[in-house]
Amino acid sequence: MSENKIDILSLFPEEMQSLLENEPKYRIKQLFGWLHKGAVYDEMTNLPKKMREELTEKTYIALPDILKKYVSKIDGTVKYLFKLYDGQCIESVVMKYKHGNTICISSQAGCKMGCKFCASTQNGWVRNLTPSEMLGQVLVAQNDTGIRISNIVLMGIGEPLDNYSNVMKFLRLVSRDDGLNIGLRHISLSTCGVVDKIYALADEDLPVTLSVSLHHSNDADRSALMPINKKWNIDELLTACKVFFDKTGRRISFEYAVISGVNDNDVQANALADLLNKKLPSIPFHVNLIPVNPVEGTGFTSGIKTVMQFQATLEKRRVNATIRRKLGSDIDASCGQLRRREMNL
Ligand code: SAH
Repeated sequence: MSENKIDILSLFPEEMQSLLENEPKYRIKQLFGWLHKGAVYDEMTNLPKKMREELTEKTYIALPDILKKYVSKIDGTVKYLFKLYDGQCIESVVMKYKHGNTICISSQAGCKMGCKFCASTQNGWVRNLTPSEMLGQVLVAQNDTGIRISNIVLMGIGEPLDNYSNVMKFLRLVSRDDGLNIGLRHISLSTCGVVDKIYALADEDLPVTLSVSLHHSNDADRSALMPINKKWNIDELLTACKVFFDKTGRRISFEYAVISGVNDNDVQANALADLLNKKLPSIPFHVNLIPVNPVEGTGFTSGIKTVMQFQATLEKRRVNATIRRKLGSDIDASCGQLRRREMNL
């Protein structure tokens, strides 16, 4: 922020204490509690006026503004286009599942990864989101919808492992029992395969679910679709997944967008089963088949019958696979496209 103020919602209570040295511990506790309800200083009526004045002077609360909101008439999915303090736009989606209300949040404004099918990366990367800007998506969406959010997926705009330290701090803040208290086991982090950071994450003692975007089972084809594969190939990626499971005991989830004429035939389904069964014989994993969201300029599509056939082939080969249900199809809930439109990218 331009005025050199401190981003208070990104701080742990200990850090708030060193900022407000003269305040007793219980005041910091009250402040932290208010902030993690999405409150602004005027609403913190049980804090002394002087303390609130000091806070206003020294800090700012980074809650995003709702620029646009779309509610699906089909399934109640809510999609937000948020505006950040510097005019950057990001997207979040709230989905209602039987197992709880889930929010999909963004971790960066834009993305560097260059995956050919993805709208979020087509105009490059602008900046990382702060921990508060990730928390802010959850807080504003929860307050605006009035429903308690119990699950988070880091599957919106950006590559979370390319914004590693901010994402780690966000995970630690959002799971605190004096804050939003969303259990780490209810949080999924999706990566295109930033292998060095998968090893780092395995050592964090943060039992999140790791989702790995695979999309192809051989290196030549995966590299053509996902440039990250030129840095770390499939074998290196799956070795990291194995280590992640060994250290955390958390089942791995693989994402596979089934794209017509690219990776969707029966030979490719069998090749995927071969790869995973051979490389990960002893660890539990799951394949999530995603019907592709058409993105302007890419020409990629999916045939639902082919996706079902692909699933049947995997199941026959004893690979656990589900097809991702498409929510919010009437509100263009696929990611990255609203940002592009709004910002004229
Ligand atoms: N950068 C992370 C998280 C963001 S993308 C990652 O790559 O995993 C979340 C998921 O949506 C990824 O599996 C990604 O490959 C997939 N995805 C991106 N664009 C898509 C599209 N047009 N159709 C279907 N899935 C897409």
